Amino acid sequence: MKIFLDPGHNYSGGDTGASGFGLREEIVTFEVANKLRVLLQSAGHEVRMSRSYVTDNVGNGTVASSLNERVRMSNSWGADLFVSIHCNSFNQTARGTETLIYSKGSYAQEVAQRVQNSIVSNLGTTDRGVRTRSELAVLKNTTTPAILIELAFIDNESDSWLLKTRQEDFAKAIFEGITGEQASSIAELTDIHDIAWEYAYRGIVEDLEGLENEMRQNPNGRLYWLARKTLQFIRERNF
Ligand SMILES: [Zn+2]
Repeated sequence: MKIFLDPGHNYSGGDTGASGFGLREEIVTFEVANKLRVLLQSAGHEVRMSRSYVTDNVGNGTVASSLNERVRMSNSWGADLFVSIHCNSFNQTARGTETLIYSKGSYAQEVAQRVQNSIVSNLGTTDRGVRTRSELAVLKNTTTPAILIELAFIDNESDSWLLKTRQEDFAKAIFEGITGEQASSIAELTDIHDIAWEYAYRGIVEDLEGLENEMRQNPNGRLYWLARKTLQFIRERNF
């Protein structure tokens, strides 16, 4: 599946997000989206992101151009699913997760409901449900099924703690909602990539991707174990 991930807001300019308890929405949304990217790519999905780095800005500084550009990128790529990630904020007392869609009775509603259930059950957030918001540009103007996830409230003390300390769990919950598969550990997936890269860099293997894929297919298998142990041995002896 081709999945377009849209970490909400920009690092600077007119479209920065909400903030609370030392957190900035545009940084939280990027971190969660980037972890979700690793999980989805490891499961064989094609992923593009509206922001590739946390400091990226989309558009020319205005909110409208930021939103339009996100829609344009996804539409021109021909994504199968558009996933926008945000944090909510209101009056410090409101808290919980909600997932927004353009209209009911759609494929987007099914995905949104699975993602919503997965976040609520994995993170223990208050269930604010799947809601229709037909006026939101990224839901209205995307040509593919689109969902917008409000992870939790950044200006609520207990929710912001989750947004600060459980970013990997948010990413895993969204992954499980989208794919219906169980998520691997991100540390392990990143480790697999680093190990394969180092073997290729040292000229021990030529097919970096092949080695990486074989290890990924079976993270509990002998190949990954042997590759990890051998590299550890090599590094310890400064070879
Ligand atoms: Zn937002």
